[in-house]
Amino acid sequence: MSPYIGRFAPSPTGPLHIGSLLSAVASWCDARAAHGKWLLRIEDVDTTRIQAGAVDHILQSLEHYGLWWDDEVVYQSQRTELYQDALNDLQQQQHIFWCTCSRADLARTGSAIYTGTCRKQLSPRPLAAARMRVYQQAISFKDHVFGTQTEQLDQTTGDFVIFRRDGLFAYQLAVVVDDYLQGVTHVVRGADLLDNTARQIYLQRRLGFPTPQYMHIPLVVNANGEKLSKQTGANALPFNSSTRLLWQTLVHLGQCPPNELQSETVTTVLSWAVQHWQPAAIPQQIKLATL
Ligand code: GLU
Ligand code: ZN
Repeated sequence: MSPYIGRFAPSPTGPLHIGSLLSAVASWCDARAAHGKWLLRIEDVDTTRIQAGAVDHILQSLEHYGLWWDDEVVYQSQRTELYQDALNDLQQQQHIFWCTCSRADLARTGSAIYTGTCRKQLSPRPLAAARMRVYQQAISFKDHVFGTQTEQLDQTTGDFVIFRRDGLFAYQLAVVVDDYLQGVTHVVRGADLLDNTARQIYLQRRLGFPTPQYMHIPLVVNANGEKLSKQTGANALPFNSSTRLLWQTLVHLGQCPPNELQSETVTTVLSWAVQHWQPAAIPQQIKLATL
């Protein structure tokens, strides 16, 4: 059996909130229950969206909630050479082309799917985005919460961006390269990324990387069924009442923790969770009754 390597990969665009705690706890328990590693990667590849102080808040929150990680924290902002290698590889294999469409050009096509305008521009040029050429072909994978997913990229996104016009590597490329180089075998993350997975699998195949297992954790909605926003409860995780919040997180993940655990320490709650971890009990929708 290959060893389990999981990861948590928050973007430092703001502090962790209840939704991020759900993904972090699910990912952590899944890794610990498998006696695996749990790596922490700060996804700051998009330097334009970094919020000052967010990294510190993320690290402090994880420590406070008892979610310790293995190995050194990895920062995407320090790994551009690795992404460049992958881009060069895709360039050499002619899997990409260079798109010089402006935002206005793209809007004029009237389609959310890239219409292929620049497909003949095979060599790199300044102020251009690199797009992955996609074909008519279905990509399927089994998600451990949402079941089998099938997506045909030519009908959903079209040729997608892996290197941006502003000179930054796109999330899709960075995440695929990092998951591979860090040896990640299991990706447990928020369901907002479910529809990014097919693009990532497509890239893995083009780069000759193995595909990890995927488990997406449902997004938290409030009692009215709305996605949490700052207004509806997506506030920064508090540093008090952490045991209770952890306990509630386990309830939301379908884990049925005993009531008495609420008066224990975070360490006790988490070790109960690892011992009783039932990923199959995670529901496809999580409604917060009380915020
Ligand atoms: N950095 C992404 C986010 O915070 C998560 C990426 C991933 O887990 O693949 O939404
Ligand atoms: Zn174009």
